[in-house]
Amino acid sequence: MNPAAYAVLNTEAVKHNMSIVRRHAPDAKIMAVIKANGYGHGLLRIAAALTGVDAFAVARADEGIRLRKAGFAQPITVLEGFRNSEELDAFLQQGLDTVVHSFQQLEILETRPESAKLGAWLKIDTGMNRLGFRPADAAGACQRLRQCRIIAGPIRFMTHLANADDKNDGKTVQQIALFNDTLAGHAGERSIANSAGVLAWQEALSDWVRPGVMIYGISPFPELTGKELGLHPVMGLYSQLIAVKPVYKGETVGYSGTWRCAESTLLGVIAIGYGDGYPRYARAGTPVLVNGRRVPLIGRVSMDMITVDLASEPGAKPGDPVTLWNDDLPVEEIAQCADTIPYTLVCGITQRVQIIEREN
Ligand SMILES: *Cc1c(COP(=O)(O)O)cnc(C)c1O
Repeated sequence: MNPAAYAVLNTEAVKHNMSIVRRHAPDAKIMAVIKANGYGHGLLRIAAALTGVDAFAVARADEGIRLRKAGFAQPITVLEGFRNSEELDAFLQQGLDTVVHSFQQLEILETRPESAKLGAWLKIDTGMNRLGFRPADAAGACQRLRQCRIIAGPIRFMTHLANADDKNDGKTVQQIALFNDTLAGHAGERSIANSAGVLAWQEALSDWVRPGVMIYGISPFPELTGKELGLHPVMGLYSQLIAVKPVYKGETVGYSGTWRCAESTLLGVIAIGYGDGYPRYARAGTPVLVNGRRVPLIGRVSMDMITVDLASEPGAKPGDPVTLWNDDLPVEEIAQCADTIPYTLVCGITQRVQIIEREN
């Protein structure tokens, strides 16, 4: 029995999307960001599809450990770094590179007797105000880090862009300039660009780039789809109609009766809901493909089901195929209809959704 709701993951698209990264940043090394279960696409599946990248980046140690246990031997950077001495042990055991972003981490490193065991990125906070040393503290932090016995190899430097998805926002240029000024005179590789940096900000291309969302064929820009950027979406989300029935003028549909029939119509019930990761806040009118053609969502999204208006598809019947997003219905458009960003939709696919992997 095939399940009602399933996601098809096209690993060939990952390879295509990496070719777009390389086209934009031909001289940079690539650290492919596969945190949060590969943005919901499956950590190990995506790691296996990413042949020829220079390193992986994950957010937390446990994600790096999972990669090592599965046999991935590439360099792995843990973007949040280690939280305490015990976790640092795991970095050493598994050969994970850390980000060093705080004085608290420096103090831990200074107590460790091991010699040349840990690769490190020093993170500078140039305006994101999340992780990293303030520019005024960077030189001191760098000097202390260089003196830590435990550090192996040259120290590298990174920062993170806060507004790179807005091509007209001057903050990106300011952040890049502050990063470069702060590190003037410090030797060591640098990394600035996320996907938006790779695609829109030449000046953010340094020794390493850190693409994430574009690997999955998704646009980092609110006004563009992945397709418009030449990317191929990796994930398609599908289900089917499980009931088709009339509703009459004046009746309401779904919880709280938020949608009222202005005219009698044909209602379709689809087996997908927020229990699968379909966004709870998708509004009435959000497009859904039934038999490949667009129909509007009506009523509230519930845990297991959504309802659509089949007025334009009077021949639709239970069992007919439904697309929630794929190449033909951009996840970026669904995200807009739900007042969110596509990152949250693909990350939010739940265990109930059966995964079907396809190489094209
Ligand atoms: C998540 C993340 C990235 C990748 O960002 P995208 O917008 O998905 O390309 C890069 N760098 C850091 C520090 C991150 O946290």
